[in-house]
Order: sequence, then structure tokens, then C-alpha cells
Amino acid sequence: MAFKAEYLWIDGTEPTAKLRSKTKIVADGAELPIWGFDGSSTNQAPGDKSDCVLKPVFVCPDPLRGGDNVIVLCEVLTIDGAPHRTNTRAECSAVAAQYGDQESIFGIEQEYTFFKDGRPFGFPIGGGYPAPQGGYYCGVGADEVFGREIVEKHMDACLAAGLHLSGINAEVMPGQWEFQIGPVGAPQVADELWVARWLLYRIAEDFGVSATLDPKPVKGDWNGAGAHTNFSTKAMRENYDAIITACESLGKRVEEHIAGYGAEIEHRLTGMHETAPWNVYSYGVSDRAASVRIPWQVQVEGKGYIEDRRPNANCDPYVVTKLIIETCCAALAD
Ligand code: ADP
Ligand code: MN
Ligand code: MN
Ligand code: MN
Repeated sequence: MAFKAEYLWIDGTEPTAKLRSKTKIVADGAELPIWGFDGSSTNQAPGDKSDCVLKPVFVCPDPLRGGDNVIVLCEVLTIDGAPHRTNTRAECSAVAAQYGDQESIFGIEQEYTFFKDGRPFGFPIGGGYPAPQGGYYCGVGADEVFGREIVEKHMDACLAAGLHLSGINAEVMPGQWEFQIGPVGAPQVADELWVARWLLYRIAEDFGVSATLDPKPVKGDWNGAGAHTNFSTKAMRENYDAIITACESLGKRVEEHIAGYGAEIEHRLTGMHETAPWNVYSYGVSDRAASVRIPWQVQVEGKGYIEDRRPNANCDPYVVTKLIIETCCAALAD
């Protein structure tokens, strides 16, 4: 029987790209073909030269449709077969391959916020604010936790799709949650994260809820949403000198990293709410007010991984992982 292939791609919306998808019916046994779309509707092409190309790069079972149906994440190419300007995956793959011998792996903590009827899910109907932050993080009970039904469905869907989801938790602000993907190499970790984001939007859609990656969904004394990126190479998993080399190297390319870590990062990295100021680099053991944290057990064991706490929830994980490999692996190769 023919099956449904949901082709996903990343569009050209600025400053933060969005996911798009459409369905192709594929004959039983047939290969997943190259496909195309109207780039003039996605900020990827002018109307008189509107065709863009979809090249399948990551395929997994479709946990929502079930059966033989699949999700097909694509790279966007121009009609002459070159990576489109919005295609950040191509460069991520190239840099990851260049430093492939260092065996980089990543675990990305994706924070997000549910919105319903124009306000964060759990904020009072009719306006105003809920009780201040304090009880919501990893909370339980109808007064603390909002949207768990969606979160559970999303977790099951990610596992059924074969993604490397490693956990979920309720976050500091009501309606705010996190899931983690990894540890796996790049670009795969980013492929899986984009598919997991799509599944989140799609599942929440059925509940009349939207999930947003806005890095600062509520102004004022409410936590922002990040995408802490945990990283290690083979050397870092074996010795502490490599951990320090990686931390030091990140301090030498602060502007490049901040520029690639998601739009409006300066609104989130204020120095408050468990963040370091965006323009001052620091690293430290156990320090959640540092740009980069060395987990305490990594210091104890003298090996492991580091956590770059700066990436925004709305970051492009192809860009983030590319930057980290480029900076840290070049320093570790010296
Ligand atoms: P936090 O304490 O900051 O909330 P989490 O448990 O949410 O941390 O996320 C930690 C992430 O780090 C997980 O995705 C995990 O898979 C990943 N991780 C664990 N070990 C490594 C490693 N050696 N290299 C890269 N990532 C790792
Ligand atoms: Mn976490
Ligand atoms: Mn978190
Ligand atoms: Mn973290």
C-alpha cells in the first residue's frame, strides 16, 4: 500500500526560521524522491523564480500517523543543486566531518512555553499573573503544572520515532517545559531536535495550544527559555585538560557564538534568572550563573562534558553545534 511521507524543511523567516511541512503519497517500495516547493511563500525565493528543492536527509517513522508512514526531514537546495542560503545543515555537516576524528557528541536541552488563548498556559484567564516562580520547576499537581498531557504525548511520539530523547521536565515558569535530545553527534542531534520540535507543535495543535520557542515569552521577573548545549569530544571524555581547553577556547570567540545562538539573546542573557550577561564570558564548576558550566561530577571524575548555557530556545541547532565544533575542536587539535 502507498504510504504518507511528511516532508519537513526549515524556511527563510527572519530573524528566526520556522518549520514547514507537506505530505507526499509514495508508492509502496518506492524510494523517497527529491521534491520541491514554492519558495516565494517561505521567504526563500522571488516569485518569478520560486522553485526550491527538498532533499531528504533524515527519515524516521511517523509516530502520529503510524503504519508505514514516515517523517522526512530535508535540506533545501537551489535548482542547480547547491545548498540554499537558508540551509545551515550543509555547513554543519562539513565542519562536523572535518573534525570527525574528535568524535563530538551533543545533548541539547530544549526549553519551550505553551500558550493558550494568547497567554502562557497556566496564567490566569482574564489577565494578570500567577503566583511568582518557585513551585513550578519539576512540580506536580493541577495548581503547579500545565500541559502535562501534551508533554507525555510528545515524549511517547519522540520515542516511537526513534529519536534520542533523554528526558523531560517542567520548568521554572508555569506552562514552560523542557525536553532533551542526545547525546549524539552533529548534524544528527540537530536533525532530531528539529523533528522533535515539529512533533511538539503538531501534537499541541490538537489541544488548541501553541508551543513557542520565544527566548523571553514574558517580560519581567520570569525565566526565559534556553537551549543549553552539552558537548564533549573523545578527549574531553578522557581528561580534564581537554575540558579546560574547550572552556578557554569558547572565551575567544564570544561574538561569533552569541550572533549564532538565537535572535534576541540579549533579552534573555541579562545576568539574572540563572544566566550570565551575554557580553561577558565566564565558565565555572557547578555555576549556573556562568556562560559555560562544568558539571560538578565532571570535576570529581576529571573528565566528561561541558554545558554551554547561552544558546536561546529559538536557536538553530545546526549553527550552534557547528560553532562549538569549529571553536573547541580547532583548539583541541592544536
Ligand atoms: P541540566 O542539569 O543542565 O538540566 P539535563 O539533564 O537536562 O541537564 O541535560 C543534560 C544533557 O547532557 C542530556 O541531554 C545528556 O544526554 C547530555 N550529556 C550527558 N553526557 C554527555 C556527554 N558526555 N557529552 C555531551 N552531552 C552529554
Ligand atoms: Mn535540563
Ligand atoms: Mn532547563
Ligand atoms: Mn542545563
